[in-house]
Amino acid sequence: MIIKCPVHGGEITLKPSGVCPQCDANLAPWLRLKELPEAYYMEGMSHREKGQIEEAIVKITTALSLNPKDVKAHNELANLYILKGLHKEAAYYYTRVLGIDQNNEEAKKGLERIRTAETTATQALKKEKRKRIFTYAGFSAGSFAAGILVILLSYKGTTPTIQPERELYKKE
Ligand SMILES: [Zn+2]
Repeated sequence: MIIKCPVHGGEITLKPSGVCPQCDANLAPWLRLKELPEAYYMEGMSHREKGQIEEAIVKITTALSLNPKDVKAHNELANLYILKGLHKEAAYYYTRVLGIDQNNEEAKKGLERIRTAETTATQALKKEKRKRIFTYAGFSAGSFAAGILVILLSYKGTTPTIQPERELYKKE
């Protein structure tokens, strides 16, 4: 693998030991650091595959903080937020992708899906509200009729007995 040595600045073919053949600098820690965002990203993906969405979000957010221009980590984070139903957060990361790469198809499609989902949700909510009002009205009318019936029946069936107040006083 040919890389640019960060110590002396020249292009080198890296040895398996991680030592620069020209300036003898040990580049292993630097290489590990360079690979860190990808390592976190991969960990995040493996959590996602197991259905551990929270853990996946933590790992991919870390990957993103180490490599803030990473488009695929942005998109993945947005996808994870969609899985959690957090559309606002998802839209934030998709929008950031378009800030880096304005033609990114995944981010565009993601934003479109969120818009569609939001519209559907609003419509469903409206429908549900209307249904609830009708149900409530129907229920109220029903219980009102039942109430009248109970009153009518109780009038017919029992004659109310009123305890003379005088008798109560006598007992004291
Ligand atoms: Zn070097």
